Amino acid sequence: MADEKIKLPIRSALIPIFYKNFRCLMGACQDNCCDDGWKIEFSKKDYLAVKRAVEQNEKLQALVSQGMRRLRKREHDGMYAEFHITDSGRCAFHTKEGLCRLQLECGEKALPEVCRTYPRRVGYTPAAKEYSLSPSCEGVLQQLWDLPEGVGFVEDPLSSAEQATADIPRGNNLLICFEPIRSLFIDILQNRALSLTERMLYLGVVLQRLQKENWDIFDPDVWTKQVTAQTDVDTIKDMTANIPGNRDMYLMQNLQVLDAISKGQMGWPTELYKAVNVKRKFTLASTVDGVSERNIQLMTSFSKKAYEDALEKFQAAFSDREYFFENLMVAAALHMGFPALDSKEKLWEGYVSLCNLYSFYRFVSVLGCKEDQTKERLFHMIVVASRATLHDSVRFNGFQEELFQHDSSTLAHMAILLSG
Ligand code: SF4
Repeated sequence: MADEKIKLPIRSALIPIFYKNFRCLMGACQDNCCDDGWKIEFSKKDYLAVKRAVEQNEKLQALVSQGMRRLRKREHDGMYAEFHITDSGRCAFHTKEGLCRLQLECGEKALPEVCRTYPRRVGYTPAAKEYSLSPSCEGVLQQLWDLPEGVGFVEDPLSSAEQATADIPRGNNLLICFEPIRSLFIDILQNRALSLTERMLYLGVVLQRLQKENWDIFDPDVWTKQVTAQTDVDTIKDMTANIPGNRDMYLMQNLQVLDAISKGQMGWPTELYKAVNVKRKFTLASTVDGVSERNIQLMTSFSKKAYEDALEKFQAAFSDREYFFENLMVAAALHMGFPALDSKEKLWEGYVSLCNLYSFYRFVSVLGCKEDQTKERLFHMIVVASRATLHDSVRFNGFQEELFQHDSSTLAHMAILLSG
């Protein structure tokens, strides 16, 4: 039967240890999520709940009528209204002390779901009810920084109300094997006998192997045992060393990502262009209809030496913090729902996204910390990079599609992305 489904019972929750310990830094946060110019959009249910919550409070009612509005034309994906962001990029309810006036006066229940849950994400995979946190939040990065021993997990039984069933279509997917495959991939990301770049690259080698398997007769236990048995560190080091990187192409690629996700945005993207001495020229180009012309900017050069100088300083300052980048990538992988086992194509696309993100994190961290190698500056750079990628999927996915169109999604190309 084509539409026959396999039913997997979900009886437990999987919680990374940093999720349990997470606390919002509130006024002490340097990139407060309520002050960053983000559009805070929510459902009709949340819109009505805010209206109801302020019914008895005239001052708040006035603030709500200025600070909250219907989306009308832009209504999409169940989003119905938004908090109006002031010219300074602040949510209208955000106080000088970094607190939320709506929450202070009406309680947490009055807040739209996005405000109550950010940076948390909770959802069901075929293995468990899973909890993750977005690396776009400084409080989350602090948790990852405080875990030199790496990210651990706890498994809790679910109450009967939370238990669910995953309906998995029979056919060409490996969703039924999600748990053992994902565990193996996390183990690879956490294998400290290898550098993080080697682990990322080896992950690609293993993924390619998985793509070549016959998924109709796949046995996850046999396969994961085989891969684990072959995980000899020297062999992996030799294998990954034979996949060459290319620093010029790494820089070019990340500058293109920066261009694609930061169109017209001043501030941190401009700082990064400056840090690597990007030169541009303006040229006139015809529009598609050939009727008019417009000025476009072309990047003509950048300085690899400027990047390598910044890299040297970065490595000296953060040489004992590779664990932090490992934790960051584990958190990002969980947040992105990696691996995508719906199909062989999706599996590889998920890996390309992870490599892109790793490469971009590295690029913005090295250049962003060129003049200031502090933890605060590093957190700022990772927060802004995450907000422009993980939280702006339209732009980031557009860039990914380009990679696939130009045949730049091979393992050899991933080696270039990882060579920064
Ligand atoms: S970014 Fe994170 S730590 Fe900062 S205010 Fe928002 S939730 Fe709190």
